[in-house]
Amino acid sequence: MTFSELGLNATLSEAVAAKGYTTPTPIQAQSIPAILTGRDLLGGSQTGTGKTAAFTLPMLQRLATGKSRPRSPRGLVLTPTRELAAQVGESVTTYGKGLHLSSAVIFGGVGIHPQIERLRRGVDILVATPGRLLDHVSQGTIDLSQVEIFVLDEADRMLDMGFIHDIRKVLKLLPARRQNLLFSATYSPEIKSLADGILRDPVEVEVARRSSAAETVTQVIHPVAKADKRRLLSQLIKRGNWSQVLVFTRTKHGANRLAEQLGIDGIPAAAIHGNKSQSARTKALADFKANTIRVLVATDVASRGIDIRLLPHVVNYELPNVPEDYVHRIGRTGRAGEEGCACSLVSADERGLLKDIEKVLKRPIPVENIEGFQMAEVDGLEDARNTSRGNQGRGRSQGGGGGGNRPRGNGGGGGGNGGNGGGGNRPPRGRSGAGGGGGNRRNSSRPRVASR
Ligand code: AMP
Repeated sequence: MTFSELGLNATLSEAVAAKGYTTPTPIQAQSIPAILTGRDLLGGSQTGTGKTAAFTLPMLQRLATGKSRPRSPRGLVLTPTRELAAQVGESVTTYGKGLHLSSAVIFGGVGIHPQIERLRRGVDILVATPGRLLDHVSQGTIDLSQVEIFVLDEADRMLDMGFIHDIRKVLKLLPARRQNLLFSATYSPEIKSLADGILRDPVEVEVARRSSAAETVTQVIHPVAKADKRRLLSQLIKRGNWSQVLVFTRTKHGANRLAEQLGIDGIPAAAIHGNKSQSARTKALADFKANTIRVLVATDVASRGIDIRLLPHVVNYELPNVPEDYVHRIGRTGRAGEEGCACSLVSADERGLLKDIEKVLKRPIPVENIEGFQMAEVDGLEDARNTSRGNQGRGRSQGGGGGGNRPRGNGGGGGGNGGNGGGGNRPPRGRSGAGGGGGNRRNSSRPRVASR
């Protein structure tokens, strides 16, 4: 299957080829033809699946022939964060460079006047975050009545971030006749009701199980005492020779502190969170992409929209309070078919959070103890000890050979593809409850991160 077989014109197919993509990803293969026919679309797709190109390419093609009037975009993409807006904007520019379309990205935290000027000159495709878009609406510097295609990207995150009222305000300003595309990694009743209110007879496309983790991500939990987390992280990074690691903390303060401490440990790191200026965030991301820094420590909000190809390691330094955030976090690795590894450093006080996450995943996450870091109060300790012994020096084997004892929850490379590699010390585990007994924690001798 090629991009032109999906109905994309030669200009766009060439732009995609120039980017190095030869084959459409599943979400692209399913969405592009439907969007080209003008249908509404509900995309159940996580980040990392190629969803940006899935809506950007056909949107560009459909809008290619018209011309915008001043202040009146014809395509509108709403994203939850500035970073995601910037990235979508970049995709629009990259893919659309052979077309005579103009685009702009508007978000808060930067001056509004250049944006006003840009809108005045006319923009075919506008990518925006809700708050700043509504600022423009209230100042009369934008008119949304000419929008032909409306995209709500990462709708679940929009709701998590409390943008529902802003979204409703925007919807009221759009013309009744338009094409709507809604993408969401998870599918809660709230998303369903939002989608029902926006979409007309949508084509439904789903590439990964909803609320499930990306197929290519190997997940593992390392039990560790809270006070030892930083030492364990430094060890994993150093021994594993991890070069690009995205680490999640729960708080901005925690992100700053951890980045500093890693620096002291000799691991160049930067923090990225909502209190940082836009230019500081952009610089941190650029340094990370250029491998000037090895670790980017991020909070959930800031991480949204970070797109780094082939990001091999994501670490949950602390588990998120909202289980769905776990899915988003680990979606930062294993992007577009690449293999990734997501490990979580879990202390005893986080076992409730872990339980909630596993409920959302509908399966347990394999546990692996690292020599010298076991939590004293892990139950099923015997099993854990065995695993630990069998995996000495395991920090070096990330994404590599993966010894026979290495528990793999899903399609990772090396040993135990599908978690059923056998030869390990723990029972085989399927990817989901559908896989049989693997999903049932009660019947499993898996060491759980739990203390009584
Ligand atoms: P997204 O899900 O839109 O955030 O995209 C995830 C990553 O996959 C980005 O780095 C894209 O550049 C990349 N990507 C998108 N489409 C393809 C494709 N057809 N082949 C290979 N990589 C792709």
